[in-house]
Amino acid sequence: MIRVNENYQKLKASYLFADIAKRVNAWVAAHPDQKLIRLGIGDVTEPLPPACVAAFHAGVDEMAKRETFKGYGPEQGYAFLRELIAQHDFKARGAQIDADEIFISDSSKCDVGNIQEIFANDIRVAIPDPVYPVYVDSNVMAGRTGANEDNRYANLVYLESTAANGYVPALPTQPVDLIYLCFPNNPTGATATKAQLQAWVDYARAHKALIVFDAAYVAFVRDPQLPQSIYEIPGARECAIEFRSFSKNAGFTGTRCAFIVVPKELKVWDTAGREHSVHALWNRRHTTKFNGVSYPVQKAAAAVYTPEGQAQVKALTDFYLGNAQLVRDAFTARGLQCVGGENAPYIWVNVGRDSWEFFDLLLNQAGVVCTPGAGFGRCGQGYVRFSAFNSRANVEEALARVAKLL
Ligand SMILES: *Cc1c(COP(=O)(O)O)cnc(C)c1O
Repeated sequence: MIRVNENYQKLKASYLFADIAKRVNAWVAAHPDQKLIRLGIGDVTEPLPPACVAAFHAGVDEMAKRETFKGYGPEQGYAFLRELIAQHDFKARGAQIDADEIFISDSSKCDVGNIQEIFANDIRVAIPDPVYPVYVDSNVMAGRTGANEDNRYANLVYLESTAANGYVPALPTQPVDLIYLCFPNNPTGATATKAQLQAWVDYARAHKALIVFDAAYVAFVRDPQLPQSIYEIPGARECAIEFRSFSKNAGFTGTRCAFIVVPKELKVWDTAGREHSVHALWNRRHTTKFNGVSYPVQKAAAAVYTPEGQAQVKALTDFYLGNAQLVRDAFTARGLQCVGGENAPYIWVNVGRDSWEFFDLLLNQAGVVCTPGAGFGRCGQGYVRFSAFNSRANVEEALARVAKLL
């Protein structure tokens, strides 16, 4: 008899975005001639940068000729892309990362979800609250979390991000082995300073813990004091894996390209106390279960690092940050406290009432969709997340409707 992985039954029954979709679909059905404006889901709206499109086309043309056709590429990604990443995203910022420490993939969501596979099942996992749900659910599926009671899993350590700590969690007071951090943060839009990240790196090194650092939104950082990689922090090569994606900087959500950085110094230990290389483990895992990102897509991603590509990505992220500023200003002007939106495409608004109640109010009275903070964890109750991913006209119209309502 084929039996089910019963850990799947511990997953929280309702998935946030499915719940939202149900309410939105009901509204659309009831208001067939009114326009809905979505400031909820974190998907980009603007087309690919022209430099990426040109490189993408050229890559396809190469595939069309016998002389330049390519079959399987290296599972870890083509050297041309790995070298550009090492140079521009790391070495140029003083972070010593080599090309062979970079693994190209088709998704940060997959990388973040898959990384836990190479660690023991009885490790202690610390996850932020509010949280990007993949960190939690991938550990639930693997059987590390215990049962869910009252919106929390018994064996997870929750790192609370609240107004009191500026949305950067304090170090855990109990031992943890695997730590998920995300800055600029989804959902709060908060950022962490070098000193704050240094404290986490020091903690991880002292406790032989490992930090999983999700930097999907790093292209939105404008404050020159803020770190743009955890490897700008001394000691991070010994305790941190970083996740990056082309989804939010270059609009690759429908094109698919990302990467993970695994420094060679990183170690894990077996029950006998012997050291193992995380790089070797991940290389084994990656090459066994993944067969590389398509060549034209890697060419398109490489174009991000050309001078035109850099300028276009800057313009694209500037555009979304302009939307974010409008959203932030609109809610601040109505006396609501906001975080994010300055170095991130998300604005986390304290709405002073139940998250879903505010979501329903905005949907039903204004036809505007946000994301209820409670869906990201207990600490999200009383907040909603606005996304800056939309056209300027839609953002302006949504805010005009909100102004009338509040
Ligand atoms: C969008 C996002 C990613 C990127 O995911 P892809 O699978 O590369 O599109 C990663 N982490 C967070 C927190 C995100 O919001």
